[in-house]
Amino acid sequence: MKRLLLVHTGGTLGMSGRRPHALRPGAFFRTVRERVPELTKLAHLEFELFSNLDSCEMQPELWTRLATLLHERLDDFDGAVVTHGTDTMSDTASALSFMLRNLDKPVVLTGAQRPLGEVRSDARLNLIDAVTSALHGPKEVTVCFDSRLFRGNRVRKVSIAEYDAFDSPNHPVLGVLGVEARFERGLRRRGRRTLWPALVPEVFLLRVFPGLDPALPLALLPRLKGLVVEAYGAGNFPSSADLGRSLEPLFAEAQRRRIPVVVVSQAPRNGVDLSLYESGSLARTYGAISGGDLTMSAAVVKLMHGLAHVPRGSLRHYLERSVAGERT
Ligand code: ASP
Repeated sequence: MKRLLLVHTGGTLGMSGRRPHALRPGAFFRTVRERVPELTKLAHLEFELFSNLDSCEMQPELWTRLATLLHERLDDFDGAVVTHGTDTMSDTASALSFMLRNLDKPVVLTGAQRPLGEVRSDARLNLIDAVTSALHGPKEVTVCFDSRLFRGNRVRKVSIAEYDAFDSPNHPVLGVLGVEARFERGLRRRGRRTLWPALVPEVFLLRVFPGLDPALPLALLPRLKGLVVEAYGAGNFPSSADLGRSLEPLFAEAQRRRIPVVVVSQAPRNGVDLSLYESGSLARTYGAISGGDLTMSAAVVKLMHGLAHVPRGSLRHYLERSVAGERT
């Protein structure tokens, strides 16, 4: 029988019926055994308690610890399932995808919209599907939710109260767990599994909106090592000097300070093209990097990760290409 590691980090899946109380660790693993006894027919499971947190408490230091734990333990297993809250699942999945390069085993994140112990909980099926995906799915970091398997660094949380909590608008699903479970091949490996665990968290995400006072982000720049701008549409932002509030000085000052700026789009589908409109082109002249169709989560985490691992001269190249299937 195949061996899987089940790492619990927290989230609604592991909360008791009376939210927001988390089940105690012992109670959590007992509840899994009681509510989903079939899991033991699918694989030999070993449980590991990583944390018992609402995922809004997730932080870069915890990603480093989680990736290190998975890297150290995966040799003894055929794959891993990570139970996680839905709120920051896309961020953790992105982080793991950049930290665990050339994965040779599936690492599947899952969670639930209702606690495992509740009637009509989605946790039971999500757990069974995640275990199935860890046994038979692609060898990369994925998110399994509501009978679909997604590339981890492509997902967005799209629903708070429906069971289909995730979508990956710019990438096809990697698996469908219907009457039959079907999986795509996933990423091609280019060498041995390696751990790249460091992050530079001094990154800021700026969402552009009408009325944004450029003085505010300008004042932040001295404290930043990297900036992600969530721009309009194809990568646009106000740049007219006549109308005021042009963001041009922000791009200029970031360039002067050698702070990398990655532009992503507020539109969930398709990607940034900085050559299409005037403001995008302007950003390019100040050295802004196109985030293409990176999700906001993947852009922020990849920038943190690139700043820690990639020499400054190669950072643009690192950010503009796909390193873990995160951009098209
Ligand atoms: N707040 C919860 C969390 O992210 C929500 C969930 O798990 O669905 O931990």
